[in-house]
Amino acid sequence: MMKSFLTFSLLVFTFILKAQNAGDDWKDIYRGSSTRINDLVHTKLEVRFDYNKSYLYGKAWITLKPHFYSTDSLYLDAKGMDINKVALVQGAALTPLKYSYDSVGLNIRLGKKYDATEKYTVYIDYTSKPNELKVKGSDAIKDAKGLYFINPKGEEKDKPTQIWTQGETEANSVWFPTIDKPNQRCTDEIYMTVPEKYVTLSNGLLTSQKKNADGTRTDYWKMDLPHAPYLFFMGVGDYAIIKDAYKGKEVSYYVEKPYAAVARKIFGLTPEMIAFYARITGVDYPWAKYSQITGRDYVSGAMENTTATLHTDALQQDARELVDGNKFEEYVAHELFHQWFGDLVTTESWSNLTVNESFANYSEVLWNQYKYGKDAGDDKNFEDMQGYLGSHSEAKDLVRFHYADKEDMFDAVSYNKGGRILHMLRTFLGDSAFFKALNLYLTTNKFKTGEAHQLRLAFEEVSGQDLNWFFNQWYFGSGNPKVNISYLYDDAAGKASVIVNQLQQGDSAFRLPIAIDVYNGKERQRHNVWITHRTDTFSFSYRKRPDLINVDAEKTTLWEKKDDKTLDNFIHQYTYAGNYLDRKEAVDFCAKNQDDPKALALLKTAMKDKYFALRSYTIGELDLKKPAVKSDVEPLLADIARNDSKPTVRAAAIGLLGQYAKPEYKPLFEKAVHDSSYSIAGEALGALAQLDGPTALADAKAFAKEPMKGKLAGVISQLLIEGGGGEEDFDVIAGNFSKLPVSDAKFEALQPFADYLGTLTNTEKVKKGVDMIVDLREAVPSQYKAQVTPFINNMILKGIVKKKTAAQNNPQAQQQIDYINEKINGKKGF
Ligand SMILES: [Zn+2]
Repeated sequence: MMKSFLTFSLLVFTFILKAQNAGDDWKDIYRGSSTRINDLVHTKLEVRFDYNKSYLYGKAWITLKPHFYSTDSLYLDAKGMDINKVALVQGAALTPLKYSYDSVGLNIRLGKKYDATEKYTVYIDYTSKPNELKVKGSDAIKDAKGLYFINPKGEEKDKPTQIWTQGETEANSVWFPTIDKPNQRCTDEIYMTVPEKYVTLSNGLLTSQKKNADGTRTDYWKMDLPHAPYLFFMGVGDYAIIKDAYKGKEVSYYVEKPYAAVARKIFGLTPEMIAFYARITGVDYPWAKYSQITGRDYVSGAMENTTATLHTDALQQDARELVDGNKFEEYVAHELFHQWFGDLVTTESWSNLTVNESFANYSEVLWNQYKYGKDAGDDKNFEDMQGYLGSHSEAKDLVRFHYADKEDMFDAVSYNKGGRILHMLRTFLGDSAFFKALNLYLTTNKFKTGEAHQLRLAFEEVSGQDLNWFFNQWYFGSGNPKVNISYLYDDAAGKASVIVNQLQQGDSAFRLPIAIDVYNGKERQRHNVWITHRTDTFSFSYRKRPDLINVDAEKTTLWEKKDDKTLDNFIHQYTYAGNYLDRKEAVDFCAKNQDDPKALALLKTAMKDKYFALRSYTIGELDLKKPAVKSDVEPLLADIARNDSKPTVRAAAIGLLGQYAKPEYKPLFEKAVHDSSYSIAGEALGALAQLDGPTALADAKAFAKEPMKGKLAGVISQLLIEGGGGEEDFDVIAGNFSKLPVSDAKFEALQPFADYLGTLTNTEKVKKGVDMIVDLREAVPSQYKAQVTPFINNMILKGIVKKKTAAQNNPQAQQQIDYINEKINGKKGF
């Protein structure tokens, strides 16, 4: 599963987040693997949907067998259902079975003892009522309803009618009775009866379709290979299906019809990704087809249902957004790699979740590196490392047998830290051993479960090395090294010393294999050493003092460090060391020393770096408040603004050039506001506004006639609001606000939007705008609600009330105030 709220939570909520105290009782609960009494063998379902009631009417034939010990009873997870009938299937006959049901699970008496060689099939007739189910929300998944009816009665005019399911962690047992644990797996077949106008998607192959007399159609989906219950999926809706292929297997993209033309730009790299992942794992794509579908109001980022990945509808970017690149390409990579790590070999328990998520997370680095070069892979690796280091999860082991809620496992430790640990293992063992071990792990455990121990055994088997120390430290231990690196040079003795101090809490030391490169000019000597103590000193003799000693030369170690290098060291590092992080570290150091001409010269070099993201990063670090910097970089900025090959780099330069407010750039901005890239056009419009407000406002009004997204939409709203935005601009301003996904950008836009609503007199518009703010309040993940709800109510909504109270010529003000107050108090509007 892909979490979509990580940056959101890190950036936006730091100011309102308090540590949540959910009690400590969970520390006493051991979260082991689920005991296997009965094993699933096969699941056959017949389902149809009641769009008026949001019910599913289901019939299930579930074949099982005792795992090892004989048993005369069966427990099935079945959440919030009406159970109409439970029977034993014996040929064509159904023999009713005794059972009890408590709205969470079914306890069935089988009527006789079965031993482990005997299969049996139970039949259950049931009604699934997902909206009447009370469940606890979570981080990755806002709800756990399992089955979601989106706009089922078609009452919301701008929203399609869809049905989709979300199983992970244990929510699929809302829509079919099963043993809803990751250490179960079975084959399946589903007969889905739907209105004829819709298409369906499920696991495996669509084997047949039959039209019914009542305007419905029954689609028969068949999955011949066993997979875990949480990976079962159904999707229903009015989608365009765009078909690709991989080695004769169907690769398809289900998108809302307006996105049919851009579907290949969003998903089209999928066959190349499949080929890439098949090649590096040595395991060909294991399943019969691979489809991806988007879901409205999806409760997570994406989910790797076997052969049928579900993505958030935010993936559906328009052609102009895609000019800046596909923001969701990493989602496509992540979910695809789960088809091997997660679906083919499945985590034994949620405690071991990292054997699914660390690989999916790391697959994004692997893909970037393969497709866009080593810098792009290293960039992604560093970004995800920061995601972990900023999450304050030092107390959590990677494999954890104690947690408050299984949803808590979907965090920056299981994902980001796990991915970085794989990267270190790869650096340590070398590419060929690393990938051969992945192959061994997959082939040994395919169609079974995996734990961190199985990973260790595969790496040990291939490399011939003991890795208990590594796994004990990183998988069954917590935290990360925090180091201070300092240098001593003794020219008389011709000796350089590197001192590495581990400063993390406690007195234990991390054991770290590490490369130290010693540079003379471009000549480099590598020393592979082990850091093993709280303080380690490594000495090197020299004839001429080295230009640079580069510790952790591969820049793959997961640690926080303070590195005592000089400006000259960093300049040498940028020029000769070569890795993305070697160069970025130099940029960071120089950005803090922009008054130094040598540092500024390096920043100017980095503005032309071969890797585009480092170019735009460097531009973002320039401090134009310093007159010397401002005048020195201007010609280069102007050149980049006109000529850089990457839209995002041009946009960054244009945004900065706007701060010069020079008429000579006006033609550049006036042209760039019409660029197809939203980021270029948006930055240019903002820059133009600083030179010529009326022209920029006129442009904004003209652009606002068409639907806009991205940076341009934000700048248009801002200009319209600042330009005294009247009632006539409401559709554009409100439309831009409502189109923003729940994100830091949306929270940044919140206050200006509320200020604007405060100035409006039209009651219908005020109500619509307030509803959008209330929708945001309700859409926030549940664990943030305790902080966000009072913020939106007391700061944002009451702020609008204050403006209405002070308004002189708004005869409707009182009515609007009443409406807002009702929304604050959570009552339905009138
Ligand atoms: Zn995932």
